[in-house]
Amino acid sequence: MDVSSHVSMVQSKIAAAAIAAGRSPQEITLCAATKVQSDETIRQAIAAGISVCGENRVQELTAHLAANAYEGAREVHFIGHLQTNKVKQVVGKVDLIQSVDSPHLLQAIHTQADKLDIVQDILFEVNIAGESSKSGCSPELLPQLVQQAAQLPHVRVRGLMAIPPISSAPGANRRYFAQMRQLFIDITQKMSDNQGVMDCLSMGMSADYEDAIAEGATLVRVGTALFGPRPPIGPR
Ligand SMILES: *Cc1c(COP(=O)(O)O)cnc(C)c1O
Repeated sequence: MDVSSHVSMVQSKIAAAAIAAGRSPQEITLCAATKVQSDETIRQAIAAGISVCGENRVQELTAHLAANAYEGAREVHFIGHLQTNKVKQVVGKVDLIQSVDSPHLLQAIHTQADKLDIVQDILFEVNIAGESSKSGCSPELLPQLVQQAAQLPHVRVRGLMAIPPISSAPGANRRYFAQMRQLFIDITQKMSDNQGVMDCLSMGMSADYEDAIAEGATLVRVGTALFGPRPPIGPR
């Protein structure tokens, strides 16, 4: 698998999708979903132009940080399900936690950020298709989380993230992406000025990032299209 040529290919597809949607390619950030990849593969991706890496698992994040595998990347994000007992290993170690989905987790992140005296950037993860197997808050819970975050000076809400169903057919997720875009607009309007900068709508993966861009994604999380198929992994 030649990571470098895949990075170029995905970057040009992103640019083409942006232009087709009347958007500037600069509006869209490519976040490489690096789960199960080695330090070496991550370094290759960064050398090929990847500037944002997204990690799913705390253990892998910690190991890659210790090995300095992200050197040269502009940002590292946490994109996986985060348990409250592991926030210490993530808060302050990543630029953005994309997967905040409960009042409890939000509070735990704030407590740790307070201890470190930093402001942690976060996204709220929304379970837009209402799948019982998925993490993410319901769209109905979102206003409550936003309200809670407004009281927490050590977190800054940057936007929303969603993982819709694995695409069965081309275009199948467009309606979910459109719903996310509307939710993003609604929530942004509800937020007070001092509450954050709502500049990130994270949606779209290897199978559907072009559709997500057509519907307004500002960040796409791509794994397979950059690194090839992953070996099957157990439940998290
Ligand atoms: C693995 C993963 C991705 C990337 O998935 P691909 O289909 O391999 O592109 C994106 N987002 C999250 C949260 C992931 O866990």
